Amino acid sequence: MRFPNRVVITEVGPRDGLQNESRAIPLDRKIALVDALSACGLTRIEAASFVSPKAIPQMANAAEMMAGIRRRPGVTYVGLVPNDVGARNAIEARVDEIAVVVSASESHNRANVNRTVAESLEAIRGIASLCREASIPWTGYISTSFGCPYEGAVDVARVFEIAERLRDTGAEAIALGDTIGIANPRQVFERVIEFFHKLPDMPLRLHFHDTRGMALANVIAAIEAGASQFDGSVGGLGGCPYAPGASGNVATEDLVAMLHAMGIETGVQLDGLLDAAWLAEEIVDRPLDCRVKRAFRRPASSQHAAQADYVS
Ligand code: ZN
Repeated sequence: MRFPNRVVITEVGPRDGLQNESRAIPLDRKIALVDALSACGLTRIEAASFVSPKAIPQMANAAEMMAGIRRRPGVTYVGLVPNDVGARNAIEARVDEIAVVVSASESHNRANVNRTVAESLEAIRGIASLCREASIPWTGYISTSFGCPYEGAVDVARVFEIAERLRDTGAEAIALGDTIGIANPRQVFERVIEFFHKLPDMPLRLHFHDTRGMALANVIAAIEAGASQFDGSVGGLGGCPYAPGASGNVATEDLVAMLHAMGIETGVQLDGLLDAAWLAEEIVDRPLDCRVKRAFRRPASSQHAAQADYVS
């Protein structure tokens, strides 16, 4: 096999990560984090979720957030939307791309959004037509693609059936999510091979949570099977402090450090990303669990990344 020359990373910390924080995060801190992330060369950032603030208070102010960030040319700012209302708000807030989510298992979908999978796919059709009118691309995330907290094993055929539905509805890319961090490298390898066999022209992203410490191994397995697009969360942000064992996405800096060591480009400057990771830790006010960051001292200067001048 040949390793790819370049891997594309989507940073999901500001959304998938901060969404799970128990404490309220002030808007200006969220904006500072997104700006620190775009400053270090990340070109895709999932910045906000256009859900009802009643459902997820952490994601309130999505529109203000999008208005407050420093838009860097060449950076795609992604907004997650659950329905038509969210899609309209996201489009109005000028997101560059939309992400939608449906689970591969009925019980997880029900628990997550209180809908059947069929109802979610129907809602996605509505979102897709709004995206089409606005000429905004969208990615279809399939949660619990590798296992479900309620049902255990997930039917692979079901995952591909949903992926094909999303493709036929107009998805620009499909993301397979290991929501609970239960995937293993062999399973990932086989599923990615099958994905490219079944949906040969569809860009694939992989979203691995690191609950069992297998996220980086899963990334390698996916790369060996031909994948080259991954989600990461700065500092490994995510998981829930009140759910022991729940863990965030693979830490973006660990992912970047590994890929660079392998001679695979990401376009990300690791030192700038580490600054963003320190900032993330400061924002959530608890230690974040990522490997590479431990190997570096915290910068002596109290001026953290977001306030630094990045014009270089
Ligand atoms: Zn996730």
